Amino acid sequence: MGKTALALELAAMLNCQAPDVGARPCGSCSSCRRIGRNSHQGVAVIAPTGAAFSIDQVRELETDLPLSPQEGGYKVRILTEFSTATREAQNALLKTLEEPPAHAVLILTATAKELLAPTIVSRCQVLTLRPVPTAVIRADLIRRGLPEDEAAALAAESAGRPGWALQALEDDALRQQRKRALQAAADLPHRRRAERIRRAEEWGKRGREAVLDDLELWRLWWHDQMLALAGAGDGYLMPAAERPPALTGIDAAGAARVLGHLGDIDEKIRRNANLRLALTVLVLRLPHLVDSKGS
Ligand SMILES: [Zn+2]
Repeated sequence: MGKTALALELAAMLNCQAPDVGARPCGSCSSCRRIGRNSHQGVAVIAPTGAAFSIDQVRELETDLPLSPQEGGYKVRILTEFSTATREAQNALLKTLEEPPAHAVLILTATAKELLAPTIVSRCQVLTLRPVPTAVIRADLIRRGLPEDEAAALAAESAGRPGWALQALEDDALRQQRKRALQAAADLPHRRRAERIRRAEEWGKRGREAVLDDLELWRLWWHDQMLALAGAGDGYLMPAAERPPALTGIDAAGAARVLGHLGDIDEKIRRNANLRLALTVLVLRLPHLVDSKGS
């Protein structure tokens, strides 16, 4: 997943000395190079000592953070695998997290935000990286007491979404909805315009959050479809039993375009675009595949 790598990239971005920092840190200024060598005083990665992030580590951070960075720029502290922190340590961090010094940026990494106290999550800007390896999710489900075969099945269905797996444990309706969303992904390219628009209307009634969940599944489905069309041997995201057979009438580049549309629409919906309109645009952008299923 590269959580720490991404955090370091952000730290470099905040401290890069290039006159005109673009979308990425320059990688060649003195600051970027020292961050790369892990010798920049303003930037530190703090990993759990032992199995868990301890309250002593949080206290140490509280002493260190208010001191201004010696060379200007931002003081960035990257707390890795903070989901291992004891409840005590998480509580201790709350105040700092709420009002960090202006020169400081705290980055916490975790396997899943659901593994952190909600009070921590609500004080952070959450950036979700996907997918989490199935083995990690399976191990977590087994730790929560699920029998091994059920844990394996649920982990595979979760497609790297630990939060989804945890919710599905509580609520079986999630797994049903997952099936329906995947069926819709497979079916809609075979339908004509009027039917698509009708379905988009129905879909929109389910509400923003539910639609975003469905779109996530559609992305998995189209991702695997793209790989299948390209004849890829591995890299698939869905469980082998559910993998879509390659469609006819479209090639891998066409599937990649659909993935692009899905990303677009997802972002528009997250920015509060009109849900029904966004979905109508999406269903009309899907390729139209004519076959025996066509209506
Ligand atoms: Zn730089």
